[in-house]
Amino acid sequence: MTRSLDIGGATLPAAPVARLPARRPSAPVSPASAPGYDWLVVGAGFAGSVLAERLASERGERVLVIDRRPHIGGNAYDHLDAAGVLIHRYGPHIFHTNSRAVFDHLSRFTEWRPYQHRVLGRVDNRLVPIPINLDTVNTLYGLDLTSDELDAWFAARAEPVDTVRTSEDVVVSKVGRELYEKFFRGYTRKQWGLDPSELDKSVTARVPVRTDRDDRYFTDKLQFMPAHGYTRMFERVLDHPLITVRTGTDYAEARQDAAFARLVWTGPVDEFFGCRFGRLPYRSLRFVHETLGQEWFQPVGTVNYPQTEAYTRITEYKHLTGQAHPQTSITFEYPEACRWRSESA
Ligand SMILES: Cc1cc2nc3c(=O)[nH]c(=O)nc-3n(C[C@H](O)[C@H](O)[C@H](O)COP(=O)(O)OP(=O)(O)OC[C@H]3O[C@@H](n4cnc5c(N)ncnc54)[C@H](O)[C@@H]3O)c2cc1C
Repeated sequence: MTRSLDIGGATLPAAPVARLPARRPSAPVSPASAPGYDWLVVGAGFAGSVLAERLASERGERVLVIDRRPHIGGNAYDHLDAAGVLIHRYGPHIFHTNSRAVFDHLSRFTEWRPYQHRVLGRVDNRLVPIPINLDTVNTLYGLDLTSDELDAWFAARAEPVDTVRTSEDVVVSKVGRELYEKFFRGYTRKQWGLDPSELDKSVTARVPVRTDRDDRYFTDKLQFMPAHGYTRMFERVLDHPLITVRTGTDYAEARQDAAFARLVWTGPVDEFFGCRFGRLPYRSLRFVHETLGQEWFQPVGTVNYPQTEAYTRITEYKHLTGQAHPQTSITFEYPEACRWRSESA
């Protein structure tokens, strides 16, 4: 059956559900009566959960999924807080993709709520759209430029850079030093603990600057939130008679206790090798969640703070989830060194 989907004027062709290659005849899969599992999947986030479901449904194999956190969903985990507001424990997650196949596959496990994420930045004590667009520049500088005039305005400020090497080069060569200082420098220093001049150009591979008034944060054709939350969606993905889920279980423990033929690892890759090839330079975030005794806190889902404050951004979830509630819950994100990595592994 051919289907198509019309979303915001973009009609996408239907795509088949992702299929795994057929089981290799030589694969050491245990017979149904044997104890143990055909697969141990380490990590119950998107990667581990989706793959576990495919292995169980498509190939009829027995899968043990473990996660060292006390829940499924990985970084996309969401839950009701003490006030009953649905929040994302590890910061805001918005589902966006240009892949109809990905969307169709997950649609088997959730209904969706259309949602376009919008972000404002508090810059020079005003709230302006991020990524920078026509309204951002006109508001900040008290101008009334058209899109064509904004192109020329950027070009007049862009600094020629012979060879673009660093993240600073990427930005100043596109929009000039003043916008670099206002929007990028402070934010990058907070986020990475390094000045953009010390970061490779690949970190800021491209500067999403728009000359029109498009204020959507993402431009993917498919942008939604799972209607009943990510965790509910993951519960349905993992709800299969051939899948066993054990949360609060580290790989170090499971490899001792569980019999399995094959392994899928979705954790940090250096940790898989016991860091014997060195440690990758991970950065971390500390999330501070608060519930406020008011219905709304800010005008959009996320407000960034590139110039002031120790945190980088505040997210108010009700914008994302559409939940009606007399109170509201917000999360502050504080970038920091990755302590758990230096303590473990
Ligand atoms: C603040 C933030 C915001 C984000 N926002 C978005 C967004 O809006 N949209 C988007 O598409 N993406 C977003 N992402 C990216 C998204 O989180 C990841 O792409 C996604 O979570 C990757 O899924 P995963 O399964 O590979 O990894 P994870 O979700 O990290 O899952 C891996 C799991 O493996 C477990 N694990 C690791 N090691 C072990 C071990 N030794 N034993 C047992 N378990 C182990 C971990 O506990 C974890 O739960 C965001 C990321 C962050 C940090």
